Amino acid sequence: MLEENATILVVDDDLTNVELLNDILQSRYRVLFALNGDDAVTTAQEQNPDLILLDIVMEGRDGYDTCKALKSLPETSDIPIIFVTALDGIEDEEKGLALGAVDYIAKPFSPAIVRLRVANHIELKRQRDILYSLSQLDGLTSIANRRAFDNTLEQFWHAQIRRELPVTIIMIDIDHFKRFNDTRGHAVGDEVLRRVASALVQCVKRGQDMVARIGGEEFAALLPDTDIAGASEIASAMLESVNALDIPHPDSPTGTHLTVSIGVSGCIPTRGSDPRSLLVRADDALYQSKREGRARYCALSLEL
Ligand code: GH3
Ligand code: MG
Ligand code: MG
Repeated sequence: MLEENATILVVDDDLTNVELLNDILQSRYRVLFALNGDDAVTTAQEQNPDLILLDIVMEGRDGYDTCKALKSLPETSDIPIIFVTALDGIEDEEKGLALGAVDYIAKPFSPAIVRLRVANHIELKRQRDILYSLSQLDGLTSIANRRAFDNTLEQFWHAQIRRELPVTIIMIDIDHFKRFNDTRGHAVGDEVLRRVASALVQCVKRGQDMVARIGGEEFAALLPDTDIAGASEIASAMLESVNALDIPHPDSPTGTHLTVSIGVSGCIPTRGSDPRSLLVRADDALYQSKREGRARYCALSLEL
């Protein structure tokens, strides 16, 4: 929700209430609706709304239960929920807030108060999204940063232990980049880091793949469900893609143009194993590429 209008999901089994809330909110927000708890959960998973207005008394799965379901799913657990309900007892409100709702509006409601409370929570959500992206993105290249990479590696590692499928890492380091900065200047160096980042991102195809800047002139790609052979093909495409940028590096002992060295490693993670062992192995492979003359990739498997 950084640029476009915020999205609000209205959940109520009474179409009149849905229409009423839609009338109040549609001029400022994109409004989606669901007429029961199950559809609310599915729509929230698919559409990732910024806020959910949730009725409590509904046929089938009630609002409390829907709230519990939303809070238990990783894709929807952080979406703020406001209960909008005719249940106006103190205990009802307490129960709703205890389930993790951020606010509670009693029916019949005043349109002005709905508008103001919604605006407050949307603003908080917007600020939270900005902080989140600042904490996960690299400021120079706008791709994922080291923190995001480490978190995602940890998550995939545990998911792949359960699924008994591989995690593969590609480490990429620009060759003789110190000399490049010394001859061409730091500002040109920064621009090159941006161009290399976007060239690397273009080489990964699947939605789950991640490319991050993990150090000054070091990048890493994280590829779940990919074996070393598959990752080696991507490493080869990365070498090509950086070559195709055709960035002159006259001072490089390796060639006339800017190149990268790459290390690939992968494994099927086992219980009790540490994802850092894979990073160390990929780093070993990277330094083997450096020793063997740079501008190439090396792959080393990891046995756990
Ligand atoms: P090698 O081929 O062995 O990797 O040599 P190298 O010079 O690339 O490696 P080294 O680790 O000695 O130097 C890395 C250089 O990367 C140091 C610095 O000049 C440059 N660098 C690191 N971060 C940045 C950055 O944010 N911007 C710019 N312009 N340069 C950076
Ligand atoms: Mg380096
Ligand atoms: Mg380097």
